[in-house]
Amino acid sequence: MKPLLIGGDRVTTSHVVPNVNPSDTEDVIDSHAQAGRAEAQQAIAAAAEAAPGWAMSGPQERHDILHRAGAEVLAREEELGRLLAREEGKILPEAMAEVRRAGNILLFQAGEALRQYGEAIPSVRPGVLVEVTRAPVGVVGIITPWNYPIAIPAWKIAPALAHGNTVVFKPAELVPGSAWELCDILHRAGLPDGVLNLVTGPGSVVGQEILDDPRVAAVSFTGSQQTGHRVAAASLPHGRRVQLEMGGKNPLVVLDDADLDRAVGIALDGAFFSTGQRCTASSRLIVTEAIHDRFVSALAERVAALRVGDALDPATEIGPVVDSIQLQQDVDYIAIARAQGGTLRAGGELLRCSRPGHYLSPALITETTPQMRINREEVFGPVASVIRVRDYDEALAVANDTEFGLTAGICTQSLKYASDFKRKAQAGMVMVNLPTAGVDYHVPFGGSKGSSFGPREQGRQAVEFFTTIKTAYTAP
Ligand code: ADP
Repeated sequence: MKPLLIGGDRVTTSHVVPNVNPSDTEDVIDSHAQAGRAEAQQAIAAAAEAAPGWAMSGPQERHDILHRAGAEVLAREEELGRLLAREEGKILPEAMAEVRRAGNILLFQAGEALRQYGEAIPSVRPGVLVEVTRAPVGVVGIITPWNYPIAIPAWKIAPALAHGNTVVFKPAELVPGSAWELCDILHRAGLPDGVLNLVTGPGSVVGQEILDDPRVAAVSFTGSQQTGHRVAAASLPHGRRVQLEMGGKNPLVVLDDADLDRAVGIALDGAFFSTGQRCTASSRLIVTEAIHDRFVSALAERVAALRVGDALDPATEIGPVVDSIQLQQDVDYIAIARAQGGTLRAGGELLRCSRPGHYLSPALITETTPQMRINREEVFGPVASVIRVRDYDEALAVANDTEFGLTAGICTQSLKYASDFKRKAQAGMVMVNLPTAGVDYHVPFGGSKGSSFGPREQGRQAVEFFTTIKTAYTAP
């Protein structure tokens, strides 16, 4: 049984829930103590008490702790990868890559702790000195989704700590194992008590308690748009800053001049790897006329050949869907797309594997139009649709015809169209001849329009959200 972490103490509670493997629902990985309102309040109190001390800690101390934690995460790549694959369902190589990403984020942000530069500026008043520095925000609430159980917590927690904030962390209900390991590693790396607190539990109780508490100065959230808007609305009365990542409906444009094999590989990866459960997944494949039929045939063949199975089986290419609720949502969207005129060209069937799990064959739906629900709402599963367009101009217009704006991709050999797309695609991240999913850990991550709100995550730019600017004037 894994406890909570509050004020440096391992806290157990009477309410414990099992962590179930989506590849085999008879496999219970562990059980986890659940926080309620009381534990959430204790965690916020502990973070508030630790905040002044941690804000005054030096850059060397913050660096060393994050560095030690990053080194341990990297050293335990396979073990943590197995846990992650087992609790979330992505295949082991993807899970290990995610663990590596988390480790590298910790190391990068350890370096950021040392790069806390300010500015000294002569005042317009003679003899006066102006200094512009950055200060921690205070207690930060971190609320994360299930699809990246260690990377997303790491990319929020590491910069929060590097810049001197204390943290109350509520992971997603479905993936408490990776969250516990990350917090345990950071705690053992030397964080003072109360600087990082883990409160595993339901969003409606523990998450809501974080949102309702005026001591929480900032909330960084990744999840659904609906919950994101709730985070923003609940934060407004407190004047609290929020950072929201809320998914996408990401387009991949394939132009006539694209290298066919490469474009098919890019679409396959972007749409279906990690079971399509990535907010950066390519869910709308927008294909120009002259290549459309060849592209669809080749992609349908590759999709049908994908091996779906247990996340830990080395032969598996696509793991299970995360749980029965998500599986039902995927199946419903496939039915809606067909009812509105789409053609199910490959997959979309519930599968029986050797163990009971949430298995769905990746679905490719063709002959869809931009107004269909399948092209407007986020599915968050191994489901992609194809939209046929005349030319580049129509492709760009359709790509931008969405309330979301996280990533956008284009496959083309034309410098002219690639350059134009980078400029005009309404998305925070644009990919040329690369899958829409799969980003670096040392550069900004985030979207435009309905996908994101607030400053960017990751890279150097993470400092924007996790600090506030102080302007000091000194007269001689
Ligand atoms: P997903 O569909 O990815 O599960 P959610 O938005 O439901 O997206 O969940 C993302 C995170 O938000 C999870 O950690 C969840 O527990 C949390 N959450 C859900 N409801 C609330 C709420 N009312 N207040 C705060 N957090 C919440």
